[in-house]
Order: sequence, then structure tokens, then C-alpha cells
Amino acid sequence: MLSEDIAIELWEQVRDKLRQEAGETVFENWLGLISLSSYASGNIVIAVHSKFHKDWIEPRYGNRIRSLWHGLSKEVSSVNLIVDERLSGRVTKKSEDATSSILKLSSPLDPRYTFDKFVIGPSNNFVAAAAQRIAESEDIAFNPVVIYGGVGLGKTHLMHAIAWKIRETNPNRKVVYLSAEKFMYQFVRALRQQETMVFKEQFRSADVLMVDDVQFIAGKNSTQEEFFHTFNALVDQNKQIIVSSDRSPADLEGIEERLRSRLGWGIVGEIHQTTYELRLGILQSKVDDIKNCIVPKNIIEFLAHKITSNVRELEGALKRLVAHSQLVGRPVSLDSAHDVLHDLLRANNRRVTIEEIQKKVAEHFNIRLSDMSSPRRARAVARPRQIAMYLSKQLTSRSLPEIGRTFGGRDHTTVMHAVSRIEALKVEDNIMADDLELLKRNLES
Ligand code: ADP
Ligand code: MG
Repeated sequence: MLSEDIAIELWEQVRDKLRQEAGETVFENWLGLISLSSYASGNIVIAVHSKFHKDWIEPRYGNRIRSLWHGLSKEVSSVNLIVDERLSGRVTKKSEDATSSILKLSSPLDPRYTFDKFVIGPSNNFVAAAAQRIAESEDIAFNPVVIYGGVGLGKTHLMHAIAWKIRETNPNRKVVYLSAEKFMYQFVRALRQQETMVFKEQFRSADVLMVDDVQFIAGKNSTQEEFFHTFNALVDQNKQIIVSSDRSPADLEGIEERLRSRLGWGIVGEIHQTTYELRLGILQSKVDDIKNCIVPKNIIEFLAHKITSNVRELEGALKRLVAHSQLVGRPVSLDSAHDVLHDLLRANNRRVTIEEIQKKVAEHFNIRLSDMSSPRRARAVARPRQIAMYLSKQLTSRSLPEIGRTFGGRDHTTVMHAVSRIEALKVEDNIMADDLELLKRNLES
């Protein structure tokens, strides 16, 4: 049975092939207008909006389309081209439709996520400056703009801030902001309802397209493909694209090389982990907005010191404390903070960095820290290095490529190999198992 995912995927491949073989002009005017209508039981039905189009396409490309489908999957039993006049209104009206509905695609913006609520520090000043610049000027200085960083560090906040600012400075510019997940959902729905033309037109009429959390489309090939086309079309028309991701384009696994490299063409900015001063600043600004509750300075410092994971947790901690104090009718105190936040405090305590792991493992095996990143392959250093890689994978949220880079620029496959090697040894070798246990406990304490 052809599943929906597969059918869509194959259809994208067929279209791609056709585009390559027929060339851009023929594709835009003829072949690009056909859409996948149904695929039940391997009976592929492809629809075109007029008899005129069908009569043009069938003798020239009918057999080619059939052989492409059959070549891609044994599940395909027949391929038919039909005329579906319901599509015609859409094609001719497409431009009006597109312009009027483009803003409907956009997700609502959070009124709290503006530039003046965004506290700047060394970890985000570069990205914030770029964001301001993009929002304020209409010439496209950098395209695309990629904002990346770990969860809860302010990516969505900055994206919304840019969108708000553009809407404020030039309400005529069509800004579309949505999550990559929603982009994918819209795309799949358009396919199902045979509205891919409308979908494309809609996105391509945006002046500024903002897609949040693009890592979400990694591995979803047909969506990537569509995103890539939209992306290229907009860049060619000199429209602004801004995306966010939880890791750098280079570290996006499951993203096609063309898309990955294209993402790196413009400006790529990282939001780093927060510093103590920034956490203090953020808490201060949030506290200023709280009514009916006083949060003493020592509590703010305590939180900034202890909740280091990300801003979302930091905010969450503050909210919880305030809510608790209002509920029980007692002022916020260090005691209540310990009490109310003990799970958060514990979780934040345990966070280990790759550097700490490297250091501890090197000490444990009595090798030099520099050997963690050296090219030496002698067993005496290679094994501890593998152990450190394994622990980095286990105890941190870093991706394989990131870990590889911290170990002297090694490839992610090396890290993958190390992880499976140590996993195997852990089972066979008791001394190894003990070493690992000891190191882990040591690191987590
Ligand atoms: P991300 O999209 O990176 O996961 P968000 O943008 O959703 O993170 O941020 C999480 C929360 O932290 C939001 O409530 C946001 O307002 C807040 N936040 C993050 N960074 C800052 C900052 N620099 N100043 C003020 N608030 C921030
Ligand atoms: Mg976000």
C-alpha cells in the first residue's frame, strides 16, 4: 500500500524529474500545473484543470509520467491523467487569492514579544542587532537570516519582535510568520486538496517570510523540497527570509545539502547560553512588570545563579515563586524558593558540559586534556576519548556533529562509532562498566 507520505514523496520526485527534463518554462506553464489527485490502491490519478492542458500534456509527457511513477515504486499499478475543472478557478484566480489569503497563513504574534522587552547581553547582542537592522530597513542586506540557539533562549521572541517592528514601520509589507510545523501542515493539506498552486502563490507573494524552528522539517523530504522552492523563489525576487533553528545549518541532520548550504548564504547568528548578568537583567525586567508582589534582590540573584539552563525555565521559576507567595499570602523568601523550586534547582544542578566531561575523563585515565582533541590514535588515549564522547552524548543535549567538533573537529560518524563501541564494551567488560558508572556519578554530583 502506498502511504500518504510515500505518495507525496514520489510525486515530488516525479515532478522534479519532469522539471529537469522539460525545463523551467515548460514546467511553469504546463507540467507544474498538474496535481496529485489520489493514489488509493496504487492507482495514481493526476489532475489538470483544463482539457486544453490535458491535450497538450498527454501526447508529449503522458508516457513519461507513467514510466517515472512505475520506475519509482512497484506499488504503482496505474497512472491516469484527468481533467478536474474545480482546479481551473484556482489557477486563474490565483493571484487575487494568494494576496488576500497570504496573511491568513501567518500565526498570531505574541504581544509580549517585542524588542523593548528583549534584554540584551553578550550572548545575544549580535543576533539582536542583526534583527533590529533587518526589521528597520527595507533594503535586503542579508538573505536569508538564520537565528539559531538552544531551547528557551529567545529565538521565537526575536522573530516576533522583527515581525511586529516591520508591521509597525511599514504596514504594507506582507510579513508571514509561522512555524515550520505549520508550514508542513499547510503544504500537506494543499496537496490533499489539490491546491498546491495556490499554496505556492500564497507564499511567494509574501514580502518577508519567517519560519520558526526549521529543524522540524529535517527528514520530511517533500516539505523540504517545497520550502526550498519557495525559499529560492523569494530570494530571487529579493524578498526577505528569516528562519530560526535549534542548531546551526551545518548541524542540521536530515536536511538536504542544497537547502543546508543555501541557508548558510546569508547571515547566521547564534544565541548563546545566557550569562549570569543577562539572567539578572531579564529577571529584573520581569520583576518590574509584576504587580502586588515584591521579589527581593537576593532572590533575584539566587535565581540568576541557580537557574542557568535557559530563559524559559528562569521565567517559569520566577512565576512559580510569585504565584506561590500570592497563594499562601507570604512574602517570597529563600526558604520558599528552595522549597517551591527544588525540582528545577536539581535539574539545573546536574547540567554537565562537554568540557567538564573531557576534563574529568582525562583526569580519571591520567592523560592530557589536549589528547581529547589530538589526532593521536594510541589505545591509551583513543579509548578514554571514546568514553568522553559517549558520556557527552549521554549527559548533554549536544548533537553528534557538535560533539565531534569539540573533540578536535572530528566527524559525527566518529562520535557515533565511539558511542556504539562503548555501549558494547560496557556489556562485555566489567571494569569498563565500573569506570563509566564512577565517572557518571562524579559528573552528576
Ligand atoms: P526559543 O524560541 O528560543 O525556544 P523563546 O523565544 O520562546 O525561546 O523564549 C522563551 C521565553 O524566554 C520567552 O518568554 C521569552 O520572552 C523569554 N526570553 C528569552 N530571551 C529573552 C531576553 N533576552 N529578554 C527577555 N526575555 C527573553
Ligand atoms: Mg521557539
